[in-house]
Amino acid sequence: MATEPRPTIVVDGLALASELRAELASEIAGLVTTGRRPPCLAVVLVGDDPASASYIKGKRRACERVGMGSVEHKLAATASEAAVLERVAALNRDAGIDGILVQLPLPKGMRPNQVAAAIDPSKDVDGLHPLNAGRLLLGEPCLVPCTPQAILKLLEHFGIPLAGAHAVVIGRSAIVGKPVSLLLLQAHATVTMCHSRTRGLADHCRRADVIVAAAGVPRLVRGDWVKPGAAVIDVGVSDVDGELVGDVDTEGVLGVASLVTPHRRGVGPLTITLLLSNTLAAYRARCGA
Ligand code: NAD
Repeated sequence: MATEPRPTIVVDGLALASELRAELASEIAGLVTTGRRPPCLAVVLVGDDPASASYIKGKRRACERVGMGSVEHKLAATASEAAVLERVAALNRDAGIDGILVQLPLPKGMRPNQVAAAIDPSKDVDGLHPLNAGRLLLGEPCLVPCTPQAILKLLEHFGIPLAGAHAVVIGRSAIVGKPVSLLLLQAHATVTMCHSRTRGLADHCRRADVIVAAAGVPRLVRGDWVKPGAAVIDVGVSDVDGELVGDVDTEGVLGVASLVTPHRRGVGPLTITLLLSNTLAAYRARCGA
């Protein structure tokens, strides 16, 4: 029996991000009014990857708009890992810096885990230090990676029920797949973690109430992989002949999914917002504000 097409909410991530940023801006303005300095984020960029340069520009603008300070530290692609670790150590010591983000990917040969482990855990706004990753696993309060937090925020905002729901996460990276799986589990979902070696990915997806696609494979998730009424979160961003493409065939899921995030103005603006929110939380924890 053919199923009736259903209306699909196409999430405006920018609108939701703007609401949350207005709240952050008013919190920061309140702190400044009481004579405190605003929080400050330090971003370290190693090399000259154009996508990374564009991301950090977006982060700088977002900081400015909410009244948060930001500083950029650029190192040449030829910089040694030791030089990056030294820069991170200097930022750890700097009392005027509340959050440190080392933009990924790092140049070949540099070990992202070593770099993450060098960041003071209380300033680790990307949530990649082993202490924060471990605390997340244990369900303890910690700085949580921004994209996973953004996804949970979005699902909560749109009232997507998670307790007892079946969530399929595609991708198992330390920055998206694994932490979002843990957050979904904390929200009492039953989570299936899929990756490049998973067999029968389409069938796992067809049983899902929530799909989080974070593989970086253009239009991997098709309309006929989606159960009617499922919520589909598209995290992936790939450059295909100069065009940015997500992991979900958005057109294909319209009329099937209850909700879909577009690859533009979807999860991205919320990720940056959660970075600001993590920096403010790190500031409050350090300054006791
Ligand atoms: P990653 O390369 O570290 O991990 C990709 C994961 O996908 C791996 O675990 C791999 O096993 C899995 N995978 C690859 N091909 C697959 C396939 N065919 N089927 C199933 N699984 C497959 O990437 P990442 O850092 O986790 O990012 C994932 C994607 O999300 C990228 O496109 C990235 O650009 C994007 N991203 C977007 C935002 C945002 O704010 N919108 C934030 C972070 C990452």
